[in-house]
Amino acid sequence: MNKEVTEAKKNLQKSGFLNIAVDVNMDLFAEIEKLKKEKNAIILAHYYQEPDIQDVADYIGDSLGLSQQAAKTDADIIVFAGVHFMAETAKILSPQKKVLLPDLKAGCSLADSAPPELFRKFREKYPDHLVISYINCSAGIKALSDIICTSSNAEKIIESVPKDQPIIFAPDRNLGSYLIKKTGRDMVLWNGACMVHEIFSLEKILKLKVRHPKAKILAHPECEAAVLEVADFVGSTTGILKFSQRDEAQEYIVVTETGILHQMQKENPQKTFIPAPPNNACACNDCPHMKLNTLEKLYLCMEYEEPEITMEEGLRLAAKKPIDRMLEISAAAGL
Ligand code: SF4
Repeated sequence: MNKEVTEAKKNLQKSGFLNIAVDVNMDLFAEIEKLKKEKNAIILAHYYQEPDIQDVADYIGDSLGLSQQAAKTDADIIVFAGVHFMAETAKILSPQKKVLLPDLKAGCSLADSAPPELFRKFREKYPDHLVISYINCSAGIKALSDIICTSSNAEKIIESVPKDQPIIFAPDRNLGSYLIKKTGRDMVLWNGACMVHEIFSLEKILKLKVRHPKAKILAHPECEAAVLEVADFVGSTTGILKFSQRDEAQEYIVVTETGILHQMQKENPQKTFIPAPPNNACACNDCPHMKLNTLEKLYLCMEYEEPEITMEEGLRLAAKKPIDRMLEISAAAGL
């Protein structure tokens, strides 16, 4: 191994990725395809990844789809183009496989808003409550939960719990409030939020609607209540994508991370998708964590099989239990 690679591996923990120069003339798409075959590797990409990464992925999806795909793949290596908690979920479900994340620092503001030690103390205040946690949380929070849910199945998961059973919902307060309205259940909420979905400006969305009166507003339930109230459709990223395929409108204002627009436009080339603006001048509707992954980092992590996600077995087993519970309830409900 040459000196540059050895140094880059030593610095991996500090920088979060293998900082090795990639030849600008290299055809990264072809090289990644070659590495997939040579190493029996599969690439899973979240909808919020940059378009080039989505185009080389074997499977593109949201949290539930990706976690199910991670469980059934027979690849030796799972390359997870997403954020840390997603790669952790793949490792929880596929402990015998090597799970790689192109940039270890691709975290999540929502997952980070629930540190396990604080959440443990919070949970202790409600000993009779069942804990339902949104999949966007760390393995530590999963291990402290009874059932995991996603934005697609959350309503059904809550409805599967007996009505007299009190519930704590974590970590997203906006999704939790939305679910309280939908299910009529009075849940105790952890006060966490996603920095991307919180930033959308209701005022700017309404101004856009004046300019595009026929456009339908599609919003993710991690958005604030005022935004969800003006939406024509509220759903997970997959739900939003499917809605835009079956619906007859020609124009949509999309209130979620901009990465989803790539698949929406690919699948509906004749329709117009307008990204909803954030409440300031920055590009804050792009998730800065998701966008840490690049095609170069994806190539390097496949070539050198670093950075790898590892997990202590006790934590893995404790975190797997509530995910298994979610998959059982989802299967029974035909989701
Ligand atoms: S969009 Fe929000 S919830 Fe998703 S990874 Fe980024 S910060 Fe986390």
